[in-house]
Amino acid sequence: MSVFNSLSDRLTSTFKNLRTRGRLSEADIDATVREIRRALLDADVAVPVVREFTGAVRERALSSEVSGALNPAQQVVKIVNEELVDILGGATRPLTLAKTPPTVIMLAGLQGAGKTTLAGKLAHVLKGQGHTPVLVAADLQRPNAVTQLSVVAERAGVPVFAPHPGNTSEADDPAADALLIGDPVAVARDGVAYAKERQHDVVIVDTAGRLGIDEVLMQQASDIRAAVNPDEVLFVIDAMIGQDAVNTAKAFADGVDFTGVVLSKLDGDARGGAALSVAKVTGRPIMFASTGEKLTDFEVFHPDRMASRILD
Ligand code: GDP
Repeated sequence: MSVFNSLSDRLTSTFKNLRTRGRLSEADIDATVREIRRALLDADVAVPVVREFTGAVRERALSSEVSGALNPAQQVVKIVNEELVDILGGATRPLTLAKTPPTVIMLAGLQGAGKTTLAGKLAHVLKGQGHTPVLVAADLQRPNAVTQLSVVAERAGVPVFAPHPGNTSEADDPAADALLIGDPVAVARDGVAYAKERQHDVVIVDTAGRLGIDEVLMQQASDIRAAVNPDEVLFVIDAMIGQDAVNTAKAFADGVDFTGVVLSKLDGDARGGAALSVAKVTGRPIMFASTGEKLTDFEVFHPDRMASRILD
């Protein structure tokens, strides 16, 4: 998770200084909290999240929840770890599967966030678990998007529903093609119907993104959501987009009301702290992490393991 390397280094060295001390005064705690605050801000964690985080750490460290087994420095590390787990969403949140298949998973996010790549990764994982996913290409904004999804689907070894001329669609009604081009809501709806008909138990609907937040885009995503009634709406966010992450996430939370977050590009070398703010700011859990372009560069997000990695 290279996006967190520098944050991780900063926090670790803060604690190293602490470890040489036997007892922590209020001044020690304040100095440590200041260091933590600076490290989080430098990593691009959103200001309100930093404020809440450091406030909680300070309060807990001062009230010194004494434990016989830990020295005061270890105690602070433990508190920081627990608070990190908290901002990362607490418990691991598994994918919700529909009681009556198909499970519908809709992907939303800005253009380039990694939705199409994620569609392939999810399909690959689900297929490995014995599911029979189908990808639905409801991103009709970019001429290449449907082709890209088809490539990804082929790589994952799953079919794609993409009513568009000249692609690898399994849709077999040419008259429907003409009707559906340009109407992503209809494509999404028909994709789900197609999945039911062919007994695919999971439908992954890829949707269009724009480079920035856009009313039309948001309305379209919201219309698709209303049309397919998804079990999960996953908001994909590039961990490297910096402070914009928070506003983007808020806009999608208001506009589409997603159920979970996927952090992508955690393998990048920019500061990924803004992504750490997303769960706290939107109240939605981080569910998956994307760590590269390959189908297998993907994992379930465990807040506790991530916190431990950051503090390792
Ligand atoms: P979309 O516009 O949201 O569908 O985004 P894409 O899935 O097309 O991804 C945009 C670019 O980011 C592509 O070049 C992907 O290969 C790349 N990408 C996606 N996820 C990751 C990731 O986790 N790590 C890296 N390094 N690149 C990624």
